[in-house]
Amino acid sequence: MIPKKRVVVIGGGFAGLNFVKHLDLDYFDVTLIDRNNYHSFPPLFYQVASSGLDPASICFPLRRELRKRHGSRMRFNMGTVERVDTTNRTVHTPLEELPYDILVVAAGTTNNFFNMSRLKDSVYTMKSTAEALRCRNDILALLERASIASTSVERRGLLSFVVIGGGPTGVEIAGAIGEMKRYVLPREYPSISQDEMTITIVEGSDRLLRTMSEDASSAALNSLESLMVNVRLGVNMKEYEPESNLVRLVDGSSLDASMVIWTAGVTATSFSWTVAEDTSASSGIPSFVGHGGRLKTDSHCRVEGLDSVYALGDIALMSGDPGFPAGHPQLAQVALQQGKLVARNLNAEAKGSYGRIKPFRYNDKGSMATVGRNRAVVDLKHFRFHGFFAWLVWMFIHLISILGMRNKITVLVNWIWAYFNYSTSLRLLIQPSRHPDNDELGVFSPRGKSANDS
Ligand SMILES: Cc1cc2nc3c(=O)[nH]c(=O)nc-3n(C[C@H](O)[C@H](O)[C@H](O)COP(=O)(O)OP(=O)(O)OC[C@H]3O[C@@H](n4cnc5c(N)ncnc54)[C@H](O)[C@@H]3O)c2cc1C
Repeated sequence: MIPKKRVVVIGGGFAGLNFVKHLDLDYFDVTLIDRNNYHSFPPLFYQVASSGLDPASICFPLRRELRKRHGSRMRFNMGTVERVDTTNRTVHTPLEELPYDILVVAAGTTNNFFNMSRLKDSVYTMKSTAEALRCRNDILALLERASIASTSVERRGLLSFVVIGGGPTGVEIAGAIGEMKRYVLPREYPSISQDEMTITIVEGSDRLLRTMSEDASSAALNSLESLMVNVRLGVNMKEYEPESNLVRLVDGSSLDASMVIWTAGVTATSFSWTVAEDTSASSGIPSFVGHGGRLKTDSHCRVEGLDSVYALGDIALMSGDPGFPAGHPQLAQVALQQGKLVARNLNAEAKGSYGRIKPFRYNDKGSMATVGRNRAVVDLKHFRFHGFFAWLVWMFIHLISILGMRNKITVLVNWIWAYFNYSTSLRLLIQPSRHPDNDELGVFSPRGKSANDS
């Protein structure tokens, strides 16, 4: 009997998880590695950040998902991959070294601060469940502090939210905080008046949702304005001074900002690569690392110049798909479709059915974003719409995409409940405590560090 090939998959996101789901384990011996022991659903991070959903509703244990699909035939190892050695075919985490015959890299992206290194420690980001949770806790803490502040100046200083980036994530989080201002503030924080809370979204280009249609952009703009969000278009952020709570813009103006939520850029997750001599490498960057740190692949998702290494999803940069010569958009559908195709290709190769191996062609099903309840924008291939119906479509698509029946039901119940009634137990401010005798609330200090975080 031919020994099974050892497949190591880095990342249990949309791409990695869909890949392992479709792989035939009669031919492969698979280990999935992820830095978390759960799969997350990024499109709803903004709802966690704005207390609309609790984190457990958008996360799913990876072990359970693998067991459901493959019983105990697949391994899951939690760990953060730091180095890949393609010469010796090993993957390294701080805890172990794993050998592979086939490596699938599906580690997604992380925040890009465009060389403004100070931002890393001072802004809030939305790239993981943990980051969304931190944002939620600190929004709630700011509201609590403002509710007992003695002057209006102090309250305004505490409640000035600035969102940088007018893409889907920026628009969604700005809209969600706008809803808190419009509906939650008057009911639950009567000592704060609505005009003491400001939300501003800053976008460098001349419209919101730049990757969507102009209709979608103007619908998003109208919706945000009706939620009392200030929209600044055509201007970039120059710097953020956390000491003085000021965001400076390139046009010379500035904004007060007790909290800056950064949604303006992503870059591929990076590892240290040990590769055989790479003559075309420039300044230490391997030649297969392309724009945005993404790994250049051929049209079968094989990383250029590396043997038996595949890249899927956000981390992959494929130029061979005729419809997307500059690479695919970093979207869940691309990741899901690539995961499935590469698994099927490897299954076909293992069975000797070479005729069934296909190149990747992205089937673009459209895009959507939501701006508060009742309002969404949907761009399909031949059809565009916005408003209430778009919002129903948006809810349906997200519900069917979330993993786990319990999660689907919890999310649906939460949405129905929130639709009719804004009081939600999710606005509980529970901070993790490191020491049993130091777990009181009220130890919050701006920018998220609590006194027991030292
Ligand atoms: C806030 C937000 C909203 C979004 N909204 C939408 C939307 O509405 N529609 C849409 O189509 N797309 C949306 N996206 C994009 C979509 O989430 C991504 O395109 C998709 O998640 C890419 O899948 P992936 O598997 O490549 O990466 P991911 O889903 O990011 O998965 C990467 C996995 O790798 C793991 N990992 C990372 N580094 C390491 C490491 N060093 N070692 C081990 N494990 C590691 C991570 O924990 C994660 O589980 C959104 C993204 C964000 C951040």
